[in-house]
Amino acid sequence: MNRERERTERPVRRQPISGARGATIIGPTNPAREAENPDLMVPPSVDHGTVANLRWSFADSHMHLSDGGWGRETTARELPIATEVAGVNMRLTPGGVREMHWHKAAEWAYMLKGLARITAIDQDGHAFQDDVGEGDLWYFPAGIPHSIQGLGDDGCEFLLVFDDGFFSEEETFLLSDLMAHTPKDILAKNFGVAESAFDRIPQKDLWIFQAPMPGPLESDRIAGAGPVPESFSYRMLAQEPMRMRGGAVRITDSSRFKASKTIAAALVEVEPGGMREVHWHPNVDEWQYYIEGRARMTVFASTNNARTFNFQAGDVGAVPFPMAHYVENIGDTTLRFLEIFRSDHFADVSLAQWLKLTPHELVRAHLHVDESVLNGIPLAKMPVVSG
Ligand code: MN
Ligand code: MN
Repeated sequence: MNRERERTERPVRRQPISGARGATIIGPTNPAREAENPDLMVPPSVDHGTVANLRWSFADSHMHLSDGGWGRETTARELPIATEVAGVNMRLTPGGVREMHWHKAAEWAYMLKGLARITAIDQDGHAFQDDVGEGDLWYFPAGIPHSIQGLGDDGCEFLLVFDDGFFSEEETFLLSDLMAHTPKDILAKNFGVAESAFDRIPQKDLWIFQAPMPGPLESDRIAGAGPVPESFSYRMLAQEPMRMRGGAVRITDSSRFKASKTIAAALVEVEPGGMREVHWHPNVDEWQYYIEGRARMTVFASTNNARTFNFQAGDVGAVPFPMAHYVENIGDTTLRFLEIFRSDHFADVSLAQWLKLTPHELVRAHLHVDESVLNGIPLAKMPVVSG
């Protein structure tokens, strides 16, 4: 079927019918969910076999409400195939604090909207404070204590990524929890003050709580033993993207964001009609977060297995190592999503480049394509292409 026609037909209620195959649904049905997943309803003819589920939406995650914000997570509990990376979508009101805490996994984050102040210290007493806005990242190594506080008129919303698919934001070491489980005489001894100093500490954990808005960053500066050797924040959107016909890509790994030793990311923008080219990753699984637009991804899992999924803003995708995949923009607006990897570096192998850089007679013996097809492939990798 013509792809252009297929796109424009999308708003119409679809039935599981393709040519002579299939039939209408006459039993119970959920038209809204079915409309979100047109390529599950009528899989492309190349789909085959039993590929595991590779999609989750934060809209289906438990929402943890608190005074000062909320959080919801996508872990291996929600998306069992994704064992290397877990994600949390979190919102903080102006002044709302994700309380001072630390945890077993390293934390990488992308600011989706608004402003926040982040703080941390490292094991050598270096102190870190910064204000982060849309498109900024942060990275806190495992065990490093930190905090996040919403700023501005409407606080902030961000994506947290952890380098362990089984990590839960509900399993963190909280300042309030630590204090509540330490006897008052021990606290008095630890700080060299009277026990009465701790009469008003919280009896249970705060997790997220409402606090007064802080002053300007300069007034919140604490020098400690000096700045952290590698900054825990990075301005990803300020990074010059690789631009090409069909979109743009920013790749941020530890070669640019030095502190981010275990998470690498690509921010991919695909214009309508364009696609993230057919490729795979030679190092690790991929974990995706869709920021805006509408997408269709087909994943080739080898041995006669392939499956197609649909994505929109707030959805999570997963691609197990080293399955081939491509992501099409099937909407009318720019598609923007993050590719995230539990690695110190980003790496991908391009199908087009593989064919270009292999003796063409050999490729042609496999595929029976004209030499002009191979000659037309650019030498440089084109992560995003347009038809
Ligand atoms: Mn954290
Ligand atoms: Mn990929």
